[in-house]
Amino acid sequence: MSYKTGLDFSKRQDQEDKLAHYRSKFHIPKDNNGKEWLYFTGNSLGLQPKSTQTYIQQELNDWANLGVEGHFEAKNPWLPYHEFLTESMAKIVGAKPIEVVVMNTLTTNLHLLMVSFYQPTKTKYKIVIESDAFPSDRYAVQTQLEFHGFNAKDGIVEWKPRENEELLNIEDLEHILNEQGDEIALLLIGGVNYYTGQYLDLKRIAKIGHAKNCMVGIDLAHGAGNIKPELHDSGVDFAAWCTYKYLNSGPGSLAGLFVHEKHAYNKNLKRFAGWWSHNKDTRFNMRQQLDVMPGAEGWQLSNPPILSMAAIKASLDMFNEVGMDALREKSEKLTGYFEFLINQLNNQKIKIITPKNPKERGCQLSIQVQNADKSLHHKLTEANIITDWREPDVIRCAPTPLYNTYQDVFNMVEKLKDILN
Ligand SMILES: *Cc1c(COP(=O)(O)O)cnc(C)c1O
Repeated sequence: MSYKTGLDFSKRQDQEDKLAHYRSKFHIPKDNNGKEWLYFTGNSLGLQPKSTQTYIQQELNDWANLGVEGHFEAKNPWLPYHEFLTESMAKIVGAKPIEVVVMNTLTTNLHLLMVSFYQPTKTKYKIVIESDAFPSDRYAVQTQLEFHGFNAKDGIVEWKPRENEELLNIEDLEHILNEQGDEIALLLIGGVNYYTGQYLDLKRIAKIGHAKNCMVGIDLAHGAGNIKPELHDSGVDFAAWCTYKYLNSGPGSLAGLFVHEKHAYNKNLKRFAGWWSHNKDTRFNMRQQLDVMPGAEGWQLSNPPILSMAAIKASLDMFNEVGMDALREKSEKLTGYFEFLINQLNNQKIKIITPKNPKERGCQLSIQVQNADKSLHHKLTEANIITDWREPDVIRCAPTPLYNTYQDVFNMVEKLKDILN
């Protein structure tokens, strides 16, 4: 793809963009004068699809009109409501339906998955995470270690970038496993790193972990709806992700969970269970011995919040209609254009720390600005450009293919140029 400078080029790209009309299906926040924000934080909280309200209203109406009967009689019966999400979600992450369920929130799911897939012994108990893992993931791992009676300082093994580098090198993970593999029980890695935007090779991570008999789990918070992780083929044991980032399902919305098919029928896996883990056919007899459902559904605990699921359904129906292939195609172009314009600035202070190879990143670029402080972020915000600031000097900026335009990107870089001069 060859890019050009100038506003005209961005306008032409928007005109030729087959997904351009999806922008009008979202509420785009505006300033007091009615001017639309340039919203680049779909990696933090995705914008609201206009259809979300209709989907939630449907459930409010059914609740008002049917009360408890809504479990069976609602237009979308609540009892199997989560099943309406499974197929679309499975497609988004490249999984089989039996491998996926929507439930709880992300960190909760990580804990529940570790109950099953982190089974340490006295000698094989360590957990590998990225050195700049998302804090919640680190705390989850730390407290799992402590729960099992281990010292977290000793039990956490960090996969770090090399000196003076930002990105992770897969050979270093291999090295860690070769050195300490006998002591490592689990790898829990962010598939797309929240800070650098680096998209790691999940298949290779799974292979490296499995070669030393470790379980491999992936946090896909920054991957779901952004890249195509092909979870089933990757062979990882489990994964979890939230739906409020790229999946536009609303603040604090429910999370996705993946358990690889190879574990689907293993009833000996330890787990924490609730009535929603139990066989659907006998769930309401209320007397049974626990009969855990096969597949990811067997990790559910509770009957789920339908209002939140309605918002997820609104979003997934849109993703299903567009398809990840078309989304990725636009995303690579749009982020490539963003990168091109930033490089055109030729500003020695600016460094993009996200990988250059489109196969090793999603839509986010993490832009390091030497000697910058948070005032840069404030100035962008004052100019209606919503980005995400990470101390000490990184702006994370995610042009998402569903609602961002080439002109958004053009205008953002023009403004950045103004501010930096
Ligand atoms: C966003 C994010 C979380 C947030 O966890 P919640 O349980 O949804 O609050 C956790 N881990 C990563 C990697 C994230 O990007």
